[in-house]
Amino acid sequence: MKGLIHVYTGNGKGKTTAAIGLTIRARAQNLRVCYIYFHKEPERWGDTEHGILAELGVDILGFAKKHPHFFKDVTKDETRKECLDGLEVIKRIFHENKYDLLILDEINISMRDGFLREEEVLEVLEAKPEGLELVLTGRGVPQKIIEKADLVSEIKAIKHPYDMGIQMKKGIEY
Ligand code: ATP
Ligand code: MG
Repeated sequence: MKGLIHVYTGNGKGKTTAAIGLTIRARAQNLRVCYIYFHKEPERWGDTEHGILAELGVDILGFAKKHPHFFKDVTKDETRKECLDGLEVIKRIFHENKYDLLILDEINISMRDGFLREEEVLEVLEAKPEGLELVLTGRGVPQKIIEKADLVSEIKAIKHPYDMGIQMKKGIEY
């Protein structure tokens, strides 16, 4: 069956959790899954979900772990270079064709914050193997990516505890 391109975007909570949920569902059906995350520093957030996904047989890769907005010891140029390294690895994965599902968590942030140009990501999407299901998450997805995708879900924040001064919770937010 033809693999589709999904986008989970919007300002509400649930984009990454949806991608994790899909990853687990895919593994439950024995699909081969690779989960690539951008702009998340595991040393800062602890083990997060990546360790347990690896235990389920998911291959995990991370790029541009330090977002320069939060880490002053990395530059925008270095972050761009690491994001481009990520795109190269994605192209290699496409070439090898060894997965059924590929998650690109927060790649929309790479575009929104100017580390990757939407044309660069579109070019990668064009090269997607026919059977591969591909998921892009993150706020602020560009219009052209929406047009290219087959499934786009926008999660809208109606209420978020953060706005009432409630801090992020381990195991709930990260
Ligand atoms: P999650 O990882 O919980 O599914 P997300 O992927 O939809 O969230 P991101 O845009 O990646 O959300 O935001 C990263 C962090 O901000 C997460 O800890 C998330 O729970 C939190 N968050 C999400 N939406 C909101 C919001 N509307 N206000 C404040 N914090 C939010
Ligand atoms: Mg997220």
